[in-house]
Amino acid sequence: MARPQMADRPAAGRVLARPSTSLAPRILILGGGFAGVTTALELAKRCAGTLPVHLTLLSEQNFFLFTPMLAEAATGAVESRHVLYPIRPLCGAWGIEFGEMSVEAIDLDRRRVIARHRRSPIRQQVHYDKLVLSLGATPNVAMAPGAAEHALPFKGVGDAIRIRNRVIDLFEAAALTDDPWTRRRLLTFVVVGAGHAGTELMAALEELTRGILLRHYPSIPLDSVRLVLVGSSILPQTATNLAAYARHQLLARGIELETNRAAGVSAEGLTLQDGRVIPSHCVIWTAGNRVSPVVSSLPLPKARDGRLQVNKFFEVEGARDVYALGDNAAQTDPHTGAPYVATAQVAVRQARALAEQLDAELTGREKRPFSFHVLGEMVPLSRRTAVADLNGIKLVGLPAWFVWKTIYMLKLPTLAARLRVVLDWTVELFFERDVSELTVEEERGG
Ligand SMILES: Cc1cc2nc3c(=O)[nH]c(=O)nc-3n(C[C@H](O)[C@H](O)[C@H](O)COP(=O)(O)OP(=O)(O)OC[C@H]3O[C@@H](n4cnc5c(N)ncnc54)[C@H](O)[C@@H]3O)c2cc1C
Repeated sequence: MARPQMADRPAAGRVLARPSTSLAPRILILGGGFAGVTTALELAKRCAGTLPVHLTLLSEQNFFLFTPMLAEAATGAVESRHVLYPIRPLCGAWGIEFGEMSVEAIDLDRRRVIARHRRSPIRQQVHYDKLVLSLGATPNVAMAPGAAEHALPFKGVGDAIRIRNRVIDLFEAAALTDDPWTRRRLLTFVVVGAGHAGTELMAALEELTRGILLRHYPSIPLDSVRLVLVGSSILPQTATNLAAYARHQLLARGIELETNRAAGVSAEGLTLQDGRVIPSHCVIWTAGNRVSPVVSSLPLPKARDGRLQVNKFFEVEGARDVYALGDNAAQTDPHTGAPYVATAQVAVRQARALAEQLDAELTGREKRPFSFHVLGEMVPLSRRTAVADLNGIKLVGLPAWFVWKTIYMLKLPTLAARLRVVLDWTVELFFERDVSELTVEEERGG
């Protein structure tokens, strides 16, 4: 019997596997990150047993990624799987329908979303009564020619695994040559973007390369590793004295700080705006934030950085029953008059507030405008040091590092997740870090 063919056209009006026949309002949340998962769970908890709603969450991957520990995953300080948490058990426990689908387009007039499964031709239309946009952002590789092709982005767990593999692989290559110029080029690691993610990653790379890997490659001279962080200033959004401490730390560890702008990336390395080239096989891109293309293609008012303009109730200007938050939203912080910065801390607070607001809307209660005083920030700098600003209390060095570890461990979503990460950290205290490559495609020899 011939197998039925999967349709490459949207199945009209279908809502994932189960069409909704109830009259419950359909709330569709796009994106399974900090903002989307928290909104879905908080709303489900609020509505449980009291208010019938049909809650659907669509995300291109079936896991939630804890980005604050991505640099640790990229450098092997924690196992990469331990910074991921499956979404299905979280949704299943609260009756949220989940679809692992990539959103392709949003039809605001017909109140529907077109989404497809990424590795199959299955495509569906998902209708909504209320739509929540939380599709996040990615490093803006379009900022410099060649970056999309030759630089490694740093945002997803795949990026973390690729970075770790690339670094270890380059050490293996460097161990096979006696030519100092080739070796130096193989062991030059460049991070573009000196914000939170770039600075944290560069510090972690320094620890991995000079502190750990060099011990395993006795033929490689100690001064062969070159580390370059490219950015006009270190941690530009952080309190000046903490940023100065971070800068001092990086310089003291022999990391070069390059303030010239990145002009292009090629197979040869990074070209700077003044024409100099930093020869490298490992250029990592963390600069800029590019809002999800699905969101940026919407014909709606946006801020200069591409985020959607939303009011204090998360309502998107120019679209009814559409809400945006997290890295998708430019919402004004009433305390500063400037838009909230794009961080997980803000995304989670916004998500809790949006869940409360949607609950109020559905039950006819009064809505509360969102106002959140940013609690501060923490940037780990590896080698048991960090900078932290906790509501004005500023810490540096070991105390900041300890506070960072404790707070972020407690922010992990489940007890099992916390135990796994604590175990990784404990093992690291007593044993060597694993320096094997995680190759998948090329592991079988020809
Ligand atoms: C390396 C790194 C370190 C960071 N460290 C910190 C930190 O220490 N503290 C802090 O507060 N913030 C930190 N941030 C910032 C923080 O991660 C973001 O601000 C936060 O993730 C924003 O949440 P969000 O839900 O808006 O977006 P995200 O968490 O990015 O979630 C977006 C979701 O949408 C999904 N998605 C995207 N496009 C589609 C599509 N077309 N279809 C379906 N699904 C899609 C994605 O897969 C993802 O699940 C860090 C960011 C990075 C990259």
